[in-house]
Amino acid sequence: MLEDAVTAVNGVGEKLAEDLAAMHIVTIRDLLDYFPYRYDVYEIKPLRELIHDDKVTIEGRVVHEPSLAFYGKKRSRLSFTVETENVAIKAVMFNRAFAKKQINPGDTVTLTGKWDAHRLQITVSNYKKGAADQQAKMQPMYSVKGDVSNYKLKKIIQRALGDYGREIAEILPERYLRDYKLPGRQKALMTMHFPKNRIALKHARRRFIYEEFLLFQLKMQLLRKLKREATKGNAQRYQADQLQAFIAGFPFTLTKAQKKALNQILSDMKSSYRMNRLLQGDVGSGKTAVAAICLYGSITAGRQGALMVPTEILAEQHYQSLTELFGGDANIVLLTGSVKGKRRKELLASLESGEVDIVIGTHALIQDDVFFCDLGLAIVDEQHRFGVEQRRVLREKGLKPDVLFMTATPIPRTLAITAFGDMDVSVIDEMPAGRKAVETFWAKENTFERILGFIEKRVSEKEQAYVICPLIEESDKLDIQNAVDLYHQLQEFFPPEVRVGLMHGRLPAEEKEAVMKQFAENDIHVLVSTTVIEVGVNVPNATMMVVYDAERFGLSQLHQLRGRVGRGEKQSYCILIADPKGEVGKERMRIMTETTDGFELSEQDLKLRGPGDFFGKKQSGIPEFKVADMIHDYRALETARKDAEEIIETNLLAKDPSFTPLEHYLENQILLTEKLD
Ligand code: ADP
Ligand code: MG
Repeated sequence: MLEDAVTAVNGVGEKLAEDLAAMHIVTIRDLLDYFPYRYDVYEIKPLRELIHDDKVTIEGRVVHEPSLAFYGKKRSRLSFTVETENVAIKAVMFNRAFAKKQINPGDTVTLTGKWDAHRLQITVSNYKKGAADQQAKMQPMYSVKGDVSNYKLKKIIQRALGDYGREIAEILPERYLRDYKLPGRQKALMTMHFPKNRIALKHARRRFIYEEFLLFQLKMQLLRKLKREATKGNAQRYQADQLQAFIAGFPFTLTKAQKKALNQILSDMKSSYRMNRLLQGDVGSGKTAVAAICLYGSITAGRQGALMVPTEILAEQHYQSLTELFGGDANIVLLTGSVKGKRRKELLASLESGEVDIVIGTHALIQDDVFFCDLGLAIVDEQHRFGVEQRRVLREKGLKPDVLFMTATPIPRTLAITAFGDMDVSVIDEMPAGRKAVETFWAKENTFERILGFIEKRVSEKEQAYVICPLIEESDKLDIQNAVDLYHQLQEFFPPEVRVGLMHGRLPAEEKEAVMKQFAENDIHVLVSTTVIEVGVNVPNATMMVVYDAERFGLSQLHQLRGRVGRGEKQSYCILIADPKGEVGKERMRIMTETTDGFELSEQDLKLRGPGDFFGKKQSGIPEFKVADMIHDYRALETARKDAEEIIETNLLAKDPSFTPLEHYLENQILLTEKLD
């Protein structure tokens, strides 16, 4: 049986089994599922097609007795001549003295090694007596550990396939195999280990890529369904007419994309299921406006709302704009780390009694002593700034509220449907009309004075600038030192009428607030800052953004920073000061100057950085696929996602017998991985 221990395979003893276990190979199924990471291709080509320095394979007849030379202590060099296509080729083999006896004049040999086209010489890494074996053209290369050699592993897999291969059952319903022209599981698995040719391998891979994605997406969709059903009874009966009136009071009309997202969210809130939704939208696309409407919806349903943001600056800003927006319609409070003592006690009491309608705050919201009377809707802004655990705590507050996560870091679709596959996703992919794209330039540091001249001129025209100081990785303290230095430098450079301000994370809250207020009122013209202003800050009169050491930032982060300008009527500029060394760095700067579309940037960022780095350390949630690659195989991912949705929504696993093998396989996998939470 496939579930038997590997020791059931002939030639696998206790010692080998131990080494295999270290490679996570315990059962025969594990062994057969252990795919090569690459294939060495031995293909015999005509001599004139061989490329200098490439690894090549030739087949020829040994012309005369090899000669063996020793040098150093244990080192040797065996050389001989083989004839192929009537050309004499010199073959050299290092440190394999024993081969001398095996290679005799007149023998046909197949040699693989590095080709020297100038000297017509091959440095042999692998040889075989006899003609090239047509079947063995593509050699599987496995990643191995301990005493397990590639050769040994190949042999036992071959044996296991021979003895147990027939037990490999199909798990995909016939219709998918037919529609996508995928080979059956048994055949595909054999091909993965011992491909006959490239085309067969391609199709076998295609099958496993689809299978991996489908299984993963099914797990996510099942999880999503479980989460929803576990929390039935959470319908928020908001007053549609009041909402309409509220929206009509806005100084603008909602964009189509905002309306669509809003409808999706409201229908989640109205339903008896608990909302678990991600709202994505570029900086300035109007997410906060949508959030405000939803919070208002909760109030009209007689419930409470909470908005959690990553920084105090942002909390204060949201507090102000929501207070304005709601006027006297709601009791809104601000809860941050700087609310302390008696004031905090009173605030918590009014939150618990239900006197407060909406609370806006930072991490302070998820402290143990914060209780709600009836929390209906919890919104997390810039959700990627919070860890998984913090988000969970908020979800557990109150009686399992509807939860909306918002992000202005557009997440590439491929990542969104893997990392957030258990969530519903809404996207605002349209900007309010009349926004001018921020013009972006890439400059070298020696142009800094010219840039400052440009700033000075615009400041004289009543505009404002941010200057983001150099980033020192992992060191908040040095970043601040940099900001302080730069602040003094600019103060010296500019004439006294240009007022320079300083902002960084370690300033006391009151000072931060004061600085932001001065900047918002144009009492400060040039604001030197660390990346604390990266998220959410809204000062429409600021039209210039200078970023020092731009090559140290990720594309998405630069895009966030750039989003601080271009929020008003006037043309805005972003100047990236960078001197990247590598090609990738240069490419990133070029991309920044060429596009302002956050989604496109995030796709590019993903390509340049890879999925592991995209989210940073805090949050990964991205599975390791064996064969599939999210970026390269995104089409298969989309297809699998669509199929998984259909399977779960229409309950095919239970209803359609052709899905039974898939259902069983999935059940086993879930039991094995226990990752479902
Ligand atoms: P986000 O939270 O996505 O960054 P905001 O909701 O803060 O975006 O909106 C950015 C700015 O655009 C705000 O000043 C807001 O009042 C304004 N705004 C939002 N929606 C619209 C719209 N549909 N039309 C015009 N302006 C809008
Ligand atoms: Mg609901």
